[in-house]
Amino acid sequence: MSDSLPIIGIDLGTTHSLVGVVDAGFPILLADSGGDRLLPSVVHYQPDGSAPLTGQPAARMRARHPSRTIGSVKRLMGRRFDELAPDDTADLGYRVVASPSGRAAIDPGAGDNRQISPEEVSSEILRALKDRAEEALELAPGSLTRAVITVPAYFNDGQRNATKRAGELAGLTVERILNEPTAAALAYGLDKLDERSRVAVYDLGGGTFDLSILELRDGVFQVIATDGDTRLGGDDLDAALADWLREKMDLPDPLDAIQQTTLLAESRRAKEALSTVASVTVSLPFFDGPRSYSTEVSREEFEAIARPWIDRTRAHCLRALGAAGCLAVSDPTLFDRRSNPVSSEITGIDRVILVGGSTRIPLVRQIVAEIFGREPDVSQHPDEAVALGAAIQAGILCGRVRQVLLLDVTPLSLGIETFGGLMNVIIPRNTTIPAKAGEMFTNAIADQASMLVRVLQGEREMARDNWELGRITLDFPPGPKGSARVGVQFSIDADGILTVLARDTATQTDRVLEIRDSAVDVDDARVEEMIAESVDHAFADMNERVWTEARLKSEELLPAVELALAQAGDALTPEEMAAIKSAATAVRELLADPGLPAQRLRMANQSLDDATETLAAILVERALERALGAGLGA
Ligand code: ADP
Ligand code: MG
Repeated sequence: MSDSLPIIGIDLGTTHSLVGVVDAGFPILLADSGGDRLLPSVVHYQPDGSAPLTGQPAARMRARHPSRTIGSVKRLMGRRFDELAPDDTADLGYRVVASPSGRAAIDPGAGDNRQISPEEVSSEILRALKDRAEEALELAPGSLTRAVITVPAYFNDGQRNATKRAGELAGLTVERILNEPTAAALAYGLDKLDERSRVAVYDLGGGTFDLSILELRDGVFQVIATDGDTRLGGDDLDAALADWLREKMDLPDPLDAIQQTTLLAESRRAKEALSTVASVTVSLPFFDGPRSYSTEVSREEFEAIARPWIDRTRAHCLRALGAAGCLAVSDPTLFDRRSNPVSSEITGIDRVILVGGSTRIPLVRQIVAEIFGREPDVSQHPDEAVALGAAIQAGILCGRVRQVLLLDVTPLSLGIETFGGLMNVIIPRNTTIPAKAGEMFTNAIADQASMLVRVLQGEREMARDNWELGRITLDFPPGPKGSARVGVQFSIDADGILTVLARDTATQTDRVLEIRDSAVDVDDARVEEMIAESVDHAFADMNERVWTEARLKSEELLPAVELALAQAGDALTPEEMAAIKSAATAVRELLADPGLPAQRLRMANQSLDDATETLAAILVERALERALGAGLGA
């Protein structure tokens, strides 16, 4: 029973938390009733002991009741009181004390004698997210009991266990504690990269900066280096901008707590707006009694304020790269060098991805590109990537979510046409409805800017032999082959209405097509005809599918071999060269004759693959030499 319920994925962040699930093949994030996906990680404890407030309503209490309004509690999770630096607790606004067992705890003061543990606070946030998920998925309260929760890669056992305990306090079985950078890499689809690929994850959030370097081994990400600053993030930019505004607008000094909070909130709003517009107005109506203040801030001015903070991430990146062995030269002065591009010295990083709300700032993107000598991948929303990855991991753990009631069945398979004219079944024949299923697709060709989704019905292997029920075109930003992530979801409701949803996950663009009746109501005679045909043609159909798949493979292989020969053919023995040439000729000849059994083409591909093994090894070696050479020369 509980197997059919999803496991939820949670990003338990320092400043924001989110929850998601995989719903019929799609990772989705769940919003509250106001449409917000980000829940401020703040809990307010009421003096009368009634249920604590969480999220936005709690955050609003901060100015007036700082001692019982707990934010950034992640900093305290699983820490001993005596290992905290004064800096760790200085600007929290509430009192941190030692629990009887020496752990960091919160004293809400004001006649409230109890201590609150960081786990308790986190459990309130987790509970709010769980409630939100149940509401969004229209499940009975208490039905969701399993979760994946993310933590920073540098969290030690104590901090991980505390996170797990927080989950348990919220009534959740924590199926996995997942590293945040790993979750982000999953959301960016990087688990599809080649073995041993390396990914740098640059995470600049509200209060922390983390740089992690991951390596894909046996399909699983290993964290091979981390570095960062637990006291550096968007909050610092808010404060720096607030200081600048205070001077520029000549605000009263000192500010009271409410004024300080208002100014900070306005600074933050201005900062976030400046990520997309060139200039904003900051206005503080009736800020000081009847007095109002207002001024303009340009992006340039903000960048001058922000640059020193963002520049501080550079040394952390280089340190992590050095620890991971991705710096070709170890130059001790490197760490202080500000203006020199260091791109040529970095090797072996296949992708740089951005995580955390503060990486929406254009200057951050620019500095990251400078540090790594390449443009970062920005195809996901940076403040949602971790949660999306947690949802994907949760989806992997529980298998595909499928909710089926016994009502009626699909008489014929439903699917879409994929590359090469093949039928890709999404809901098989004889599936009980209502039913929902989906799959992720990617672009087969570089710079493809759209995908045509042809909705098909039938049992034949080739798209052209099935019936077309409708089509949708989905546009997405062009990129290299395999970079797009398009989810296609089919759902048939109890009335037999098929809704096809195609979504570009990068831009969250949706196209929806509704098909009435025909998915379920097909004339019996036509169904029989279709099935009989599919049986009659089973052998030829299967041969054509295998042939098409093999042809696509050959078409990829042949030009790749040509290119490799041109680059490194000189290093081969005459025998090796001859073997490759004859294997390639065999593939070419078979390609020219589609009438032959498809297995032969498949085997010819395999032989060509085998024959080029040495060639591939030489290419890799040369690439390495080149990379090292470039590094030393710089
Ligand atoms: P955390 O992981 O620390 O909980 P997030 O990844 O949610 O944090 O990042 C929160 C930070 O991102 C805040 O400082 C917020 O102001 C900042 N932020 C969010 N959106 C933008 C934006 N458009 N431009 C600049 N900063 C932003
Ligand atoms: Mg985060």
